[in-house]
Amino acid sequence: MQITVVGTGYVGLVAGTCFSETGHDVVGLDIDKEKVARLEQGQVTIYEPGLEDLFKRNIREGRLKFTTDYAAALSHARIFFLCLPTPPQEDGSADIKYVLAAVTEIAKRLAAAPRSEEVLFVCKSTVPVGTNAKVREAVSAQYRGPFDVVSNPEFLKEGAAVQDFLAPDRVVIGARTQSAFETIKELYEPFCRTGAPIIQMDPTSAELTKYAANCFLATKISFINEVARICEATGADIEMVRRGITTDARIGKAFLFPGLGYGGSCFPKDTRALIASAKQVGLKASIVDAAERVNDEQKTILVPGLLKHLTAVGGPKGTRVAMWGLAFKPRTDDIREAPALVIIEKLLAAGVKVCAFDPEAAANVRKIFGDKIEYAKNPYEAATGADALFLVTEWNEFRSPDWPKLKKLLKHPALFDGRNIYDPEDLRKLGFTYTGIGRK
Ligand code: NAD
Repeated sequence: MQITVVGTGYVGLVAGTCFSETGHDVVGLDIDKEKVARLEQGQVTIYEPGLEDLFKRNIREGRLKFTTDYAAALSHARIFFLCLPTPPQEDGSADIKYVLAAVTEIAKRLAAAPRSEEVLFVCKSTVPVGTNAKVREAVSAQYRGPFDVVSNPEFLKEGAAVQDFLAPDRVVIGARTQSAFETIKELYEPFCRTGAPIIQMDPTSAELTKYAANCFLATKISFINEVARICEATGADIEMVRRGITTDARIGKAFLFPGLGYGGSCFPKDTRALIASAKQVGLKASIVDAAERVNDEQKTILVPGLLKHLTAVGGPKGTRVAMWGLAFKPRTDDIREAPALVIIEKLLAAGVKVCAFDPEAAANVRKIFGDKIEYAKNPYEAATGADALFLVTEWNEFRSPDWPKLKKLLKHPALFDGRNIYDPEDLRKLGFTYTGIGRK
């Protein structure tokens, strides 16, 4: 099939590349000229494991192209996947103006050259209930030919986006007609051979499914973080409690790891958007609201203890912290709403020097903090001469460091483990002071 992916960010680039991998002709359309220029030259613009190989192969084989030209993208396809940003507005609700602007642009051009076959707009962006109808209105205001709008929320996780797209847990297709459903289903069938369900529903339910999924996951994270705080105050150990509860099949093992909270472009914005949607219909999303509040506090939960330690060693002004990890989670270069950003701000405000290392995200952080912090080439360089080591993002390469070497490099062997990946007992035996989240 001929597919146009509108928006070539994390979702659009991964979706477009994966559809081209199954033999479809894909054009990625974006208004960001610099991004498209790089993509056209065969450079992947985001870091996602496994993406570069697929991307380069499909570019080479001519199935994957990019353009900023709506006319070129339009003549190419009858299926338009909308992978556009839906950022939060001041009241927390999702702003769908990018989605509406893109479909209006496409519809205007369709009006100039009407089609006899049905055009499908497929919304992969995370959008509030009612957006499907608004997209239909925006298109029909310009275009009288046959078209339909399908709601097909995306569930990929950054850091495992390609794997998630190629082997999803499920695909949700919210369509008003059987034929629209069948057309989109056909595109996903190659990815669902292992039996993952392709779930057919109405567009409204599809739109809400995405928010319900993300808000539930965010709530799990905040729940375990709240229990971790109670552990800390009562002398219990969250790792014991976690193991004790996650063996219950009704509770499950996933997403119950205490840490510095969630970040990224999805959970924070989607929790706020669901709270706003509930408010618009006269309801209060109390659980999600609480999850968001717990998360806001969680990002800097270790900072007071860190500042106390830095004060004890002669600071905090002028002391130095080695920060391991900047991305909002491992295996991505995405720093949107990353805990590292608010932690850095607090440390800088206290006059602390920060030297950070992240395998992929340093360039993005540099765009925000410039030379206000230092960027190390490796974890050991970051630790050299530091008064404390703060693990913020649990990249695999931080899991088994050379502790004796680190102890020698650090000025003070104080470890703040924001993701509970180390064993407190082992580290204390090695002469470190250890502070984790809700740990003894
Ligand atoms: P992104 O910001 O990485 O990419 C969006 C792209 O759209 C950008 O490249 C931007 O230049 C382009 N764009 C903006 N206006 C345009 C226009 N009028 N025409 C063409 N291109 C335009 O965003 P993303 O992370 O890919 O997210 C897209 C949507 O998918 C959001 O609604 C998000 O909530 C949802 N989502 C994201 C993820 C994720 O992990 N990133 C996962 C699931 C769902």
